[in-house]
Amino acid sequence: MSVSTQRFLWAGGLPYLDGLTEALRSAVPTIEAHECVGSFRRLCATVGNLDVLLKTVDPERLSRDLGACFGKERIRREKDGSLLLHGSVSGRASKQAIPFRLLASTPDFWGTALFFHTGPAGHLEEVVRRAACRGIAIAPGKFPACEETDIYAAAALPWIPPELRDIPDVCDWADNGSLTDRIRDLVGVNDLQGDLHMHTTWSDGSNSLEEMCTAARDRGLRYLVITDHTERVFVAGGLPEEQTLRQWDEIDALNNRLDGLTVLKGVECDVLENGDLDLSDHALARADWVVASLHFELDQPRGQITRRFLKAMEHPEVCVIGHPTGRIIGHHPGCDFDAETIFKAARETGTFLELNSNPRRLDLDDVHCRSARERGIPIVLSSDAHSADGLDVVRFGINQARRGALGKSDVVNTFSWEDVKKRSKKG
Ligand SMILES: [Zn+2]
Ligand SMILES: [Zn+2]
Repeated sequence: MSVSTQRFLWAGGLPYLDGLTEALRSAVPTIEAHECVGSFRRLCATVGNLDVLLKTVDPERLSRDLGACFGKERIRREKDGSLLLHGSVSGRASKQAIPFRLLASTPDFWGTALFFHTGPAGHLEEVVRRAACRGIAIAPGKFPACEETDIYAAAALPWIPPELRDIPDVCDWADNGSLTDRIRDLVGVNDLQGDLHMHTTWSDGSNSLEEMCTAARDRGLRYLVITDHTERVFVAGGLPEEQTLRQWDEIDALNNRLDGLTVLKGVECDVLENGDLDLSDHALARADWVVASLHFELDQPRGQITRRFLKAMEHPEVCVIGHPTGRIIGHHPGCDFDAETIFKAARETGTFLELNSNPRRLDLDDVHCRSARERGIPIVLSSDAHSADGLDVVRFGINQARRGALGKSDVVNTFSWEDVKKRSKKG
């Protein structure tokens, strides 16, 4: 069994976490509660270690129990007296193991330990500084706080969700009175009314049109847009134009039979190397929704690829740019576009930008999402599902949206289809 030395996807860490906590629960009865900390708790796209904080009233006994379970030699006392255990956990379905760290705290320091182990360093410093200005010294192992809210209260701040703590100026939002509202308005999975990007067996999806509709309905969605690939994306079963048109006839017929769910005619149209679209204007005009995405030649020089995006965004039928950077986490960093120019064009042309929820993409990322929001550009949060179960990846997109401080109203598909259409270029 090899232990991964690379960061792993947040989504990939989930089953490992389940396995680890299950093992702990059955083998170590002294654990009263546990919570993830570190970058996992902050919902970062990738994570280096699975860090779990354990609550116990009896640290000595916990130490013995953990030693018996994982080996005494793995346990270390930290400078502040807390316990640390290094190990690795293997997944049920994977040969790869990932590293974990177990940390422990007594209930009276639980909030303190949660706060300091969650990080990141810049956020800790700022909260500690604000508390110090009020004459309160906060330090690990020295300032007892049962809950994290006690720490923030000492700094005259509301509790800040972990996913916002990487935002450098998040505490300053309290100074202008917007922090509480922004925390309250953060987008959640249940806010999504529709999904605007998915594939079927017509191209490279593994479920049929009807099956995707059933899956969308089962998940409480009100509308879905089918966006299969165009011909240029031959590796993904891209459809020649006449087949796309034939699929849309089928969607029209299906729609007449559906009750309480609207299925819409869309396409994920490839943006060719010169910025042209891989479908005729006539066909694009017939679509309810057009996602324009780059799939090839992502390594074009910055000026060239930026112009390619601009040309696509200037097209009157293009509603949204799909997976804008094209990054594949751990494999391709994504294209080198001029983000400012792209954002400006998105705003001026009324083209939305996508947050693609595929955990390997998460594209736009949290930082770009925040920039887009600041510039008033609506974000489409899509699954890009290639199967019925693939619709569930929106939870990973939501993680990044929240890290990007997107509110419900910043995400296009939290609105009804009528409103989405009205706000889009096609409306
Ligand atoms: Zn794509
Ligand atoms: Zn797609």
